[in-house]
Amino acid sequence: MDQTSDTCPKCGSPLSPVTETATGRRLQRCSAGSWNKETRQNEGCDYVKWLEVPAEVLDEKCPKCGASLVLSTTRFGKKMKKCSTGGWDKDAKKATGCDYIEWINGTTEPLEEDCPDCGSKLVLFTTSSGKKMKKCLTAGWDRDKKEATGCAYVYWLKPGEYPKAPGSSEELSSAGEEYLPPSE
Ligand SMILES: [Zn+2]
Ligand SMILES: [Zn+2]
Ligand SMILES: [Zn+2]
Repeated sequence: MDQTSDTCPKCGSPLSPVTETATGRRLQRCSAGSWNKETRQNEGCDYVKWLEVPAEVLDEKCPKCGASLVLSTTRFGKKMKKCSTGGWDKDAKKATGCDYIEWINGTTEPLEEDCPDCGSKLVLFTTSSGKKMKKCLTAGWDRDKKEATGCAYVYWLKPGEYPKAPGSSEELSSAGEEYLPPSE
């Protein structure tokens, strides 16, 4: 298959320019299709070509085999470190090489904002899938009791409130990425 072709393999229409999702994945839609925000469905041709995100080689070694680790991002924006010798054999449908994977969890950043409930500082929490929320610094999770501790204030950021990544597309930043057809 010609990876550089920019016509739709389903209907032959030209593909739209490359756009970027809120989670930093790059894709090209078929120009004969569009995302309807109201119905949360694709209209017209639903072909989407996901572009490979080049893996970033890390300055870390695989604890299993000693090869370099690479930083990889799934199409839902989850990040993981995996062994550079690991791969996927499409014909045999099985993993090849080293299978070491380490998922990277969400991150928190301190904010200069006070909690409207208790007056403590807020932190910005980014989930491993790229969603963002503000929560109270005093909030926590008791693993033994399996219950939330501290202040319960949570504010989920709407897609329009996300800090904009340069070149990101207005339309796609709220396009319900999870509803797109799977990548090839
Ligand atoms: Zn098409
Ligand atoms: Zn390895
Ligand atoms: Zn609070």
